[in-house]
Amino acid sequence: MGSRQVTAWHGKNITVAGLGVSGISAARALAGLGAVVTVVDGGDSEGHRARAAELEAAGISVRLADAQTLPEGTDLVVTSPGWKPDSPLFAAAAAAGVDVVGDVEIAWLLREVAEDQRAARSGETRREPAPWLAITGTNGKTTTTQMLASILKAAGLRTAAVGNIGTPIIDVVLGEEQYDVLAVELSSYQLHWAPSVRPHSAAVLNLAPDHLDWHGSMEAYAADKGRIYEGNTVACVYNASDKATEDLVVEADVEEGCRAIGFTLGAPGPSMFGVVDGILVDRAFVENRRKNAQELAEVADVNPPAPHNIANALAAAALARAFGVEPRAVRDGLRDFRPDAHRVSHVDEVGGVTYVDDSKATNTHAAEASLAAFEPVVWIAGGLAKGATFDELVQKAAKRLRGVVLIGADRALIAEALARHAPEVPVVDLARTDTGAMLAAVREAAGLAEPGDTVLLAPACASMDMFANYSKRGDAFADAVRELAAERA
Ligand code: ADP
Repeated sequence: MGSRQVTAWHGKNITVAGLGVSGISAARALAGLGAVVTVVDGGDSEGHRARAAELEAAGISVRLADAQTLPEGTDLVVTSPGWKPDSPLFAAAAAAGVDVVGDVEIAWLLREVAEDQRAARSGETRREPAPWLAITGTNGKTTTTQMLASILKAAGLRTAAVGNIGTPIIDVVLGEEQYDVLAVELSSYQLHWAPSVRPHSAAVLNLAPDHLDWHGSMEAYAADKGRIYEGNTVACVYNASDKATEDLVVEADVEEGCRAIGFTLGAPGPSMFGVVDGILVDRAFVENRRKNAQELAEVADVNPPAPHNIANALAAAALARAFGVEPRAVRDGLRDFRPDAHRVSHVDEVGGVTYVDDSKATNTHAAEASLAAFEPVVWIAGGLAKGATFDELVQKAAKRLRGVVLIGADRALIAEALARHAPEVPVVDLARTDTGAMLAAVREAAGLAEPGDTVLLAPACASMDMFANYSKRGDAFADAVRELAAERA
């Protein structure tokens, strides 16, 4: 079977769209299996040429400065996740009857080949590929995937958090290391391009408008997220307080016997995970779920114990329990877990005011969750809105707001929503999009705040109008807070 699978790639003409991390990983892996690979990219900078030279040395063709036309003879296009579905290259592929898939699809298709190669290398008995426990959602994906990996590790399983995080997923699948199970974060883009992926179990954490400019509509975005449940064998985990996630389970085509498992911040019904008296409990994977519940961990074991993060912990616990992990490992794994930077991170306290960096709140749904954790709060917001509207967010947050400081390209959209729904809240419109605006924003925020308040960077927008990415934005915020502290010292 293995050799047949390798044969399937040998001599195949594959066009890889995008000379980024995932494109390079796909190109090298497929060339390694004997495919004839051409990488195409619209850029032609020095960086592009340097990367191209490295690939060309490995026998891979690279075509720069043209991302539009399909190389002649292409049998399959492998795209990087960010490329929009309406890119001219894909229209050309469709016209030629050529399929377009992403790196996650390739990783899935290579799982069997990878086991053949591993067995051949080690001389040991061939194993089955590691099952995938998959996670998507508008917000909380990385955190939940890392929590899940931490729980699986605490259970003594060999695992890694992959997908939209860390090492490219193709490299993990084909790599030296043998895993028992993978915790896989999947973005809506990756799901769009991954039609064959069939996880053991999967969770959709929440569903709110985001990336609509990419997907075209909320329906298309939801449909791509819903693909994660296709072919699940044990559990489809949904958010009981977000009906859209439950609807996706109902519509999914799953394996016989696969169960729908909800999570809630309240007391759980049968077949659910929830919270009772500060304890995270499982009423799904227990004997006699009508009567029994299994204690898993305390709310205080979750890091940080903000409401949205407890929801993330419940989803991670549900997937781990679906895989047969013992309750104690859920607790230990949650205790061991430390969130990545720029996710509701405490920066410093200056003059009795706490400064919190949630630069990763790049959409309104995330900003809403972090604003809900602080009161009174001076909110620093703005950036690229990506087609979002801010009325609902401002309505929900209005009564917590001490003041607002706006930066970035689309700040007028937030200012208008504030004028409509919170006209009494003081707003400083910095009317700046230069990098130095962050220090000015922090100074303005400090001026609005009173001792005991929190100044929260939760932009509800992407960062690329002012910064290279959200982490640079968060770093700029932390630097500005340090500068403020020095000024006040
Ligand atoms: P993703 O990988 O989906 O972008 P992260 O785990 O990196 O998610 O968290 C991104 C941001 O989303 C956090 O900084 C926080 O503001 C917010 N967030 C995290 N979990 C949730 C949740 N369950 N619901 C709403 N917002 C959340």
